[in-house]
Amino acid sequence: MKKYHIWTIGCQMNVADSTHVGAELEKLGYEPTADIDEAEVVVLNTCVVRQSAEDKAAGKLGSLKPWRKQNPDRTLALMGCMVGVKPSPALVNAFPWVDVFMAPSEASPLVDYIRNQMIEGELAALEQQQLQRRYQFQDDAYPIASVKHLALLGDAPVAAHVPVVYGCSHACTFCIIPFRRGIERSRPQVEIIQEIRGLVAQGVKEVTLLGQIVDRYGYDHGDNHGLTGLLREVHEVAGLERIRFLTSHPNYMTDELLETVAALPKLMPHIEAPIQAGDNEVLTRMKRGYTAKDYRQLVARIRRIIPDVAIHTDIIVGFPGESDEQFQQTYDILEELRLDKAHLARYSPRPGTVSDRRMIDDVPDEEKRRRHQLLEEQHERISAEINRRWQDKTVQVLVEDRHKGKWRGRTPQNRLVFFSDERDLRGQLLDVRITWTGPWSMQGVPADRGQVDETIANRLSAQENLPTTVSLIAENSM
Ligand code: SF4
Repeated sequence: MKKYHIWTIGCQMNVADSTHVGAELEKLGYEPTADIDEAEVVVLNTCVVRQSAEDKAAGKLGSLKPWRKQNPDRTLALMGCMVGVKPSPALVNAFPWVDVFMAPSEASPLVDYIRNQMIEGELAALEQQQLQRRYQFQDDAYPIASVKHLALLGDAPVAAHVPVVYGCSHACTFCIIPFRRGIERSRPQVEIIQEIRGLVAQGVKEVTLLGQIVDRYGYDHGDNHGLTGLLREVHEVAGLERIRFLTSHPNYMTDELLETVAALPKLMPHIEAPIQAGDNEVLTRMKRGYTAKDYRQLVARIRRIIPDVAIHTDIIVGFPGESDEQFQQTYDILEELRLDKAHLARYSPRPGTVSDRRMIDDVPDEEKRRRHQLLEEQHERISAEINRRWQDKTVQVLVEDRHKGKWRGRTPQNRLVFFSDERDLRGQLLDVRITWTGPWSMQGVPADRGQVDETIANRLSAQENLPTTVSLIAENSM
């Protein structure tokens, strides 16, 4: 069997795009491999949101030149934001050893390229064989063509990503995404629902609906309540346990949307709402369309409407012209709001963006690093304090996989929980009592096992004067 290898860097949208490409290749008779030298087809799915990501992609591309030259039957495909909506002649000329260039979310150039090289009868037989292998469950309600974002071979993941709106029509001055992923395009609701039904039939228990501004789902079709309607429909999918959506933009988080999250039990109390900076002048230069006061009010509104909600945010430090005082505003608002997670980035100019063309990248690299580190330390402290609140509490965990001998899952608020248990718990919702907390994860014992362990530990403790039950269980769970 021919093999493919996909290398992915960047956001969750890229991860979803890669699984889509994987699924398409598997329909053509390919199977995945972790070893590039074994592969006939290699796809590099790239990101250029930060210079460091672009550098890594360019390095990988260079390192694959000998791989491609060694064997004329191999295929190298370049995908994602490095390609953009249409590959520029400069890009095509710079990398003549690339066979196929693919825009973000577009698998068809590679599929067409491979199909053109195959004999018709061979192709039809292979496709049929693949469908039968994986889709024995298939019926008319779940057409195979609708499952875009899950590869066919191996175990389906417990949690999957489903893009619902591609591209972005905003123009934040630092952002290259609108140039590379094109204007906002919402997928038809019926296609999304069919895809999610297909994913659930394969074993998926949680879906995260993706969009650069996911709250604007449907706006390009004149439907300003699109996401709320979509969430209600997804909630009806039998067998699906959890739903998340990201990323939100502060200007589109309506009460109706938040009330929907609060009202529907499968919708998790987890909101991703980037602030980017805490200073109004910087926010204006970024063209974000809100003030720090607006963001404060948004956080208060989210917390009022959705109980026990976790709010995640994005921050850029060292934006052009960001003074010490302006950075301090960012630090202060994060201290005040105590958000659950902050994705931190140092500003790097992206070619063609407004901030690159019209502003001076005047914050020295060293200073960007210092600000980044200050926020990292703050984030670690606040995160540890927030997680400590869960000590000795019981949380519901969706068990995703095993990691270093322990089960790994997530709470409704998307916090990572690890625990030991010899049972096969993959894909199950389980109550876990938290016995240890750190800034980035927590550990615990399954509540049903905890009772057993406590009984045993109490007996041992009484007999042998051992340490307290909690410390014994905590030790066992490490
Ligand atoms: S909203 Fe702004 S930061 Fe987000 S993808 Fe669109 S342009 Fe980029």
